[in-house]
Amino acid sequence: MLLSGKTALVTGSTSGIGLATAKALAAEGANVMLNGFGEPDVIESICGTLEQGGGKIAHDGADLTDPAQIEAMIARTARELGTIDILVNNAGMQHVAPVDEFPVEKWDLIIALNLTAPFHAIRLALPAMKRKGWGRIINTASAHSLVASPNKAPYVASKHGIAGMTKSVALEVAKEGITVNCISPGYVWTPMVENQIPDQMRTRGLTREQVMEDVLLAAQPTKQFVQVDQVAALALFLCREEASAITGANISMDGGWTAQ
Ligand code: NAD
Repeated sequence: MLLSGKTALVTGSTSGIGLATAKALAAEGANVMLNGFGEPDVIESICGTLEQGGGKIAHDGADLTDPAQIEAMIARTARELGTIDILVNNAGMQHVAPVDEFPVEKWDLIIALNLTAPFHAIRLALPAMKRKGWGRIINTASAHSLVASPNKAPYVASKHGIAGMTKSVALEVAKEGITVNCISPGYVWTPMVENQIPDQMRTRGLTREQVMEDVLLAAQPTKQFVQVDQVAALALFLCREEASAITGANISMDGGWTAQ
């Protein structure tokens, strides 16, 4: 299988895009370290499903806003599954509020999770990739790495930031067999999107249907949510040898949003 013998860490993989990506990598035989919050029995059942791909599967509940927990998770992954060949920095959070009302602690959390955690994971995973002369780093950015929406200042800042970091690291390791890219989805139907509907209703004074049609899908010319499996398939493609010339890229999957 494509990824037999390779080890992947997918952050934020108990839900949404990360879960779909972990499934896609595991189905190709990779050992996968899952990460993210959730009910223990649900996580256990996810691990059981992923093991059917033949790789070793484990879960680490590290809170990625704490660098010490990231370091411990990466050390544990190396011990239990092998050093990381494929790092998918995917965990992220959102909060919607006007900038002059934005809770300061939420700014700190969003930047810590969406931008600083990928920095720590990259700096800690890279030395083993360099030793092996092979690696894939895939960052889940967003259409908000390219364009903005109101009331999302820290999210947009973090996603523009990760797109910039992606380019910089890609240049540093370009000759070492390691590619570094980001995937920028538009609106994907996941709990993260569903959970922001009440905030959008409150801040914009809209009904649920109006938020879906006039705010979320208004940006997407296809008028369709992106599917998690579509994002996962792109991540899997980036792991192939055929993708070895793709590095430093910010690949949009946004139903045409940022073409406008
Ligand atoms: P989701 O809410 O379904 O999943 C988020 C995951 O991150 C979960 O596994 C959760 O447990 C984990 N997580 C949250 N806080 C964490 C923390 N402190 N430490 C460790 N794990 C933590 O979200 P999703 O929609 O699948 O989003 C995944 C990524 O995709 C995010 O970076 C998000 O910004 C990005 N994205 C999402 C969309 C969308 O429309 N859903 C669009 C563009 C980009």
